[in-house]
Amino acid sequence: MRLIILGPPGAGKGTQATRVAARLGIPAISTGDIFRANIKNETELGRQVKDILASGGYVTDEITNAIVRDRLREADAEGGFLLDGYPRTLAQVDALDAMLAEDGQALDAVIELTVDEDAVVHRLLKRAEIEGRADDTEEVIRERQAIYRRETAPLADVYAGRELLVQVDGMGEVDEVTSRIDDALKGARRS
Ligand code: ADP
Repeated sequence: MRLIILGPPGAGKGTQATRVAARLGIPAISTGDIFRANIKNETELGRQVKDILASGGYVTDEITNAIVRDRLREADAEGGFLLDGYPRTLAQVDALDAMLAEDGQALDAVIELTVDEDAVVHRLLKRAEIEGRADDTEEVIRERQAIYRRETAPLADVYAGRELLVQVDGMGEVDEVTSRIDDALKGARRS
């Protein structure tokens, strides 16, 4: 299957993406993870995106699209993938459409994890406290939510218009959310 998972920062996308992808035998591809690995390894890309990630803003579409294009052409993604954190802008939606069309591929479903914003902000503040992330202040966390609402939430409407959107309640226990996603995907088109 070729899937996307959408949801605001703190919705638990990464956790769910890993679990769902493992069950389906496809790679979970997280652009955030790719950027963080590059920062850690001090690559040229890492140097370019380090400050952007720290600020909570978005990496340029040009850089992000190029990275995803390369990653989707790796052998393990041939039979399917679950994209986590991409696309994040309408321009990235267009770029992904073009990449898939070139390879004669199509998306099967877009999962949107819906959460209560105040609950998520609370969750992220707690995590920042536990992990000692001093730069994750309430202000920064709220700003990330606002960027998501402005830039990324509209993508759900685009995919709903294509009848690909599957909304899943992201609140509750991790296992509970995973089984909701599994159930929702049973109703989605298979590739
Ligand atoms: P979160 O779940 O907290 O939003 P991610 O791991 O998905 O975190 O992403 C971390 C950061 O990486 C983002 O805040 C952004 O700076 C950058 N990033 C990840 N994916 C994209 C993308 N598709 N377009 C632009 N920037 C991105």
